[in-house]
Amino acid sequence: MANVNTRYLIVGGGMTADAAIRGIREHDVDGKIVLVSQENVPPYDRPPLSKALWTKKKKVEQIWRGTDKFNVDFHLGREILSLDPVKKFCVDNQGAEYHYDRLLLATGGMPIRLAEETGKVIYYRTFADYERLRALANEGKTFAVIGGGYIGSEIAAALNMQGNKVTMVFPEDGIIARLVPAEMSLQINELYESKGVVVHPGQLVSSVEAHDGRMNIQTNRGLTLDVDVVVAGLGIRPNTRLAETAGLKVDNGIVVDKSLRTSAADIYAAGDVIRFFNPALNRAIRTEHEENANLSGKLAGAAMTGQSVQYTHLPFAYSDLFELGFEMIGVIDPRLPRIGDWQDPYRTGVVYYFDGGRVVGVLLVNMWGRIDQARALIESADQPSAKDIKGFIT
Ligand SMILES: Cc1cc2nc3c(=O)[nH]c(=O)nc-3n(C[C@H](O)[C@H](O)[C@H](O)COP(=O)(O)OP(=O)(O)OC[C@H]3O[C@@H](n4cnc5c(N)ncnc54)[C@H](O)[C@@H]3O)c2cc1C
Repeated sequence: MANVNTRYLIVGGGMTADAAIRGIREHDVDGKIVLVSQENVPPYDRPPLSKALWTKKKKVEQIWRGTDKFNVDFHLGREILSLDPVKKFCVDNQGAEYHYDRLLLATGGMPIRLAEETGKVIYYRTFADYERLRALANEGKTFAVIGGGYIGSEIAAALNMQGNKVTMVFPEDGIIARLVPAEMSLQINELYESKGVVVHPGQLVSSVEAHDGRMNIQTNRGLTLDVDVVVAGLGIRPNTRLAETAGLKVDNGIVVDKSLRTSAADIYAAGDVIRFFNPALNRAIRTEHEENANLSGKLAGAAMTGQSVQYTHLPFAYSDLFELGFEMIGVIDPRLPRIGDWQDPYRTGVVYYFDGGRVVGVLLVNMWGRIDQARALIESADQPSAKDIKGFIT
């Protein structure tokens, strides 16, 4: 394939890539944009893969971002393997060179894999994973979901709602225990069990083996499961290899400044892959959520055209588990001191997380339209004290 020269090169084909292209086009209507993505499809909304596509709130046709409307040259199904930040070009797995003026790394994250398994586990992340799982879910098979974080929990709920037999296995005591207070997470176990999901907390998977068309799971505490399909949601690692080998600054994510510039000239980064300083929390963070992908992507695109931008926004996240809807902002860590303000215990209410006497995180359960208020609280120099916090968000 002939080598490519472009004004803007986008590596990655996720939501961040799409947002960046929109950011570019707001300021530069005809500069050439080339997008290279490992995926075989153009950018789409990822959250519906574990939610709306299963509850029929969305059809597949509705998840595409419409990136093709912005006059973009797509190179799909290709992986960028190397980057020369001095000569300003990348090379893909088919040997094609992409010479750029400005580069965006929107490489996102890659699912964490089990150490011991025979290759048939679905590590749920992409549209291709959705298509594979969807086809299996229509066949009346049995499923094990490894992982009690939000992806595993959402997928377990989705499969259950399709009438499938689902077993969950995870090392924590309760579902989404790394996000919510312990007592709430135990209640979520009960909610799942009431829906017919078999829940095995406190079990660390030691191996998964495929034989005779079945999948056998073993845990460290001697539990054995025999199912048709294994899906895993074990979290992600940021895709930083390209940046690292090119000598860019990386520290659990590609380090960017307020303008979303990396440590190398004319190279920007955004989305799940970045580590950035947030002034409200007074710390560097990396976050794996939609609002961050959309906002940091859009600003990075604008910055690539020469606009002056500042990414100081504190992004929020959301998740749906059966009838429980969560919105989270700031540092949501159940190890921190916290105060719950419940209208209906563990079903409707607010949890405030404190660090150093300040509210650093807010979890909203089945309370919609309050995220701006929660963000303003975290950012405020003049927060109410812990004893006065109840009733702040109602
Ligand atoms: C099933 C699921 C449900 C989710 N639900 C929610 C939710 O409810 N709420 C919420 O806030 N967030 C949710 N998220 C998270 C949200 O989708 C992510 O934060 C967002 O998609 C990140 O976008 P990104 O473009 O930065 O990274 P990614 O989506 O990871 O995209 C990275 C892209 O880069 C490509 N790539 C990587 N390396 C290379 C390379 N070297 N060469 C070429 N291409 C490369 C990848 O193939 C991919 O296309 C969910 C995620 C998943 C998987």
